[in-house]
Amino acid sequence: MPAEDLISTKLSVVLVEDNPDDAFLIERHLRRSGFLPEVVRVETSAEMLGVLEASALPDVILADYNLPNFSGPEALQLLKSSSLDIPFIMLSGAVSEETAVSSMRAGAHDYVSKQNLTRLVPAIERELKEASTRRDRLAAELALRASEARFHSLVEAMPLGLLISDGSGRVNYANRAAQRLLGYEGAGALSDSFTLASICPALGEAQALAMSSLSIPSEPFEAVCTTRDGETLEVLIGIAFLNEHAAGRQRQLAAFIADLSLQKKSEEMLRRTEKLAVAGRLAASISHEINNPLEAITNCLYLAVGTDLPAEARTYIEQAQRELDRVAHITVQTLRFYRASTRPSQIDVNEIISTVLTLVEGRLRLRGIEVMQELRADPNVFAHDGEIRQVLANLVGNAIDAVAEGGRIVIRTSSSYDWRQERRGIAITVADNGYGMDLATRKRIFEPFFTTKGMTGTGLGLWICSEIVGKHHGRIRVRSRKDEGDSDGGTVFKIFLPVEQDASV
Ligand code: ADP
Ligand code: MG
Repeated sequence: MPAEDLISTKLSVVLVEDNPDDAFLIERHLRRSGFLPEVVRVETSAEMLGVLEASALPDVILADYNLPNFSGPEALQLLKSSSLDIPFIMLSGAVSEETAVSSMRAGAHDYVSKQNLTRLVPAIERELKEASTRRDRLAAELALRASEARFHSLVEAMPLGLLISDGSGRVNYANRAAQRLLGYEGAGALSDSFTLASICPALGEAQALAMSSLSIPSEPFEAVCTTRDGETLEVLIGIAFLNEHAAGRQRQLAAFIADLSLQKKSEEMLRRTEKLAVAGRLAASISHEINNPLEAITNCLYLAVGTDLPAEARTYIEQAQRELDRVAHITVQTLRFYRASTRPSQIDVNEIISTVLTLVEGRLRLRGIEVMQELRADPNVFAHDGEIRQVLANLVGNAIDAVAEGGRIVIRTSSSYDWRQERRGIAITVADNGYGMDLATRKRIFEPFFTTKGMTGTGLGLWICSEIVGKHHGRIRVRSRKDEGDSDGGTVFKIFLPVEQDASV
């Protein structure tokens, strides 16, 4: 830049110099070169520190090599340890090549002889420009880093899982949601075997195709992932290239993963509930329709048995009566549940248990079954009397079916508290040492019409139990072990009924 263009360019200078004459000459030289210098002269390290700690920093530092109590190299040292980026030019009376070289090594930006100041202004101009370039670059880098950090925290915070893989399919980034979804949270660094194909075969195939033919599915697709514990997870996956034009292994793929399991579960629940409701209504209407003719047939058979009949015919009729009893039992069970029930009231669960036991007394005695009662609850709950009676009758009935001759049934009640929903309630368990159930049976026992008792079962008992308990906002749970050779079987049904009921029951 020619000197004329520099007219009135302000320049704040720190001049490390003890000699006022030299200072005057330097300042005059700058002024003549078109600068408007504001010079602060320092002669000691304390003054130098003061300058470096001031809020307004100089544009340039010019330092004499030798001072009585200080030196150019010491001033440079102080600048370096402050890590400020200010152009520093060393000045000296006698130029020795060695001092020049050592100054430059120590980090001075240039070295100028006082005898020949013509190099000073071009050096200052160049250094000012370079310093400004450095500042711009630093600002750009900081802005980039800030934007990267923002982007990173956004990706980490989003609820959608994100995986980034290299061209071989190895996953080298998984955001927090992806790690949580796939069970790798807190598992440390991603291992080499963590590949898209190992997480989800369909995703692995899509990745291989993307690499070989550069084509990726345009729509998200449903797939099944495998989590770290080997569980399966239904997900929706969308994929995109990060750098489509990169070569081979450098080409990165981003896979977005949304968890569908909750949605699938509620779809399945809805289907089940609908199925149950339909089955229930159907069962109720059928049993209603057949109840009257059934009674008529029962009466006819009763009258027929009373007449004079050949022995063979009597056997057949008696057999027909027994089968009819079974049908009647099914219809009654279904109807009772669906009959519009009366209003709930305060009921005494312990008392209900004893009436249920009275009903089955005959069966118990006949088969030598022992019943133990441990009734420790404050027994009052607000519920439908008949329905709770039916639940207990069904559970006790099943227990009787399950135990062998001389088996044992234990009925317990206790006061209970449901911490999850913060409700007081009563827990009722019906336990038996009967044949128990395997897992496959246990999974299905609450379905309507599921029975393992062939012609003698209806498969309605537990279904009705769960409906009634659900209606009372309670819970029913089962634990069971199958009786197998050396290990004894047994089953425990546990019911929780809240003490208070809201109006919806
Ligand atoms: P049902 O008694 O007519 O078969 P339930 O709905 O009452 O129908 O029971 C369904 C099935 O659950 C039974 O067939 C039986 O396999 C199983 N089950 C219920 N209670 C017990 C129990 N206490 N011990 C063993 N299995 C049981
Ligand atoms: Mg039953």
